[in-house]
Amino acid sequence: MELTGLQIFKYLPAAKKAEGTNCKKCGCPTCMAFALKLAKKQVDIEKCPNVPDELKEIFSEASKVQQHEINLGFGVKVGGETVMFRHDKTFVNKTAIAIELDCSDKDFDKKIEKIKNYEIERIGEKFKIDVVYLTGVPSDSQQKKLEELKDKLIPVLKSDDERILLGKDLEDLEKLSLKTDLKEKILELEYKNSSISSMMEQLTYLRRAAILKRHEPLTWPVMVKLSKDSDVFKTCAAASFLICRYANIIVLPEFNEALLSTLFTLRQNIYTNPQKPLQVEAKVYEFNEPDKNSPVFLTTNFALTYFAVAGELESLPFGSYLVVTPADGMSVLTAWSADKFTSDMVAKSVKNFDLINKVDTREIIIPGLLSHMQEELQEAMPEWKIVVGTIEACQIPEFIKNRD
Ligand code: SF4
Repeated sequence: MELTGLQIFKYLPAAKKAEGTNCKKCGCPTCMAFALKLAKKQVDIEKCPNVPDELKEIFSEASKVQQHEINLGFGVKVGGETVMFRHDKTFVNKTAIAIELDCSDKDFDKKIEKIKNYEIERIGEKFKIDVVYLTGVPSDSQQKKLEELKDKLIPVLKSDDERILLGKDLEDLEKLSLKTDLKEKILELEYKNSSISSMMEQLTYLRRAAILKRHEPLTWPVMVKLSKDSDVFKTCAAASFLICRYANIIVLPEFNEALLSTLFTLRQNIYTNPQKPLQVEAKVYEFNEPDKNSPVFLTTNFALTYFAVAGELESLPFGSYLVVTPADGMSVLTAWSADKFTSDMVAKSVKNFDLINKVDTREIIIPGLLSHMQEELQEAMPEWKIVVGTIEACQIPEFIKNRD
């Protein structure tokens, strides 16, 4: 439990009008000042000789680690979480997606090439395989191949890595974790395909024990290894659950591009900081070498909206412009309701981008969701004709076709 300054103050002499009130021994002018500093962790609790044991206990509890963070190499970090739910604050480190690679596999070389060369981009973010999970002992030539993964910043985690504590259930893990005094630990649970729900229960228990109870033996990142299933949809369902709750590392039994792109998309959504929406630069974007007569579209700098619209504009058989206005990464309706997309702001952006000298077109196509702003935008930008466009980005090609 973390206390606010006021809550801390209630434990101090000034609140109780007791001996020592505002005695300044802590270096602060008053007990209240000390309480406020303590809440911000700017002063040591021991500076005050009058702090009761009860408050010391609360502080010692609060200073315990919730979940340790482990660096697997090349900046791939797992763990370090502090909340149960993303909307409470934010999740810190993405679930690392690992691919299992067995040294006895006759396709070892082919698989490692695929892993090495895999990269996708979504909403401006690039994804690659986070970790290779190696089983068996590599030959010299395999070792060379593994070395090449360094160029792609992909760490290799070995199944016999002594950090990994493998347990069939929670009791196992707890015992194993207590027995070892290793500096770093990774708790590995065995996943049984037959029961996603029991796996979920165990993972939720583990995360609660770490985050809420700060139960030391279970405050380590958790890895779940999936076994091979002929039905990739089952693997996808299981891995999706595990990303949501609460695996820190998922080991996939094989390389499958469709599965990977699905999981990376889901993971991106879960791990985007809700307080920092993904956004793109506010400016005029050009698609397919537009000329002075190309159509001009307008939207906000919310990354998802931008990429949805940009994808459609790229697919048009002619050039176009997209004016992206600054709106703190909010979608058009959210921006409008938060006063981040007012007619004055839009007019100012269009003026700052010097659009009038870039194009001869005198029409700006606004998102259909903002049709109610047409009149006021028209008033704010009398030199432009404001045209109401589509509600969905995917309707743009049809919309343009019908205007020709
Ligand atoms: Fe208050 Fe303790 Fe600071 Fe004295 S030392 S002023 S009692 S907080």
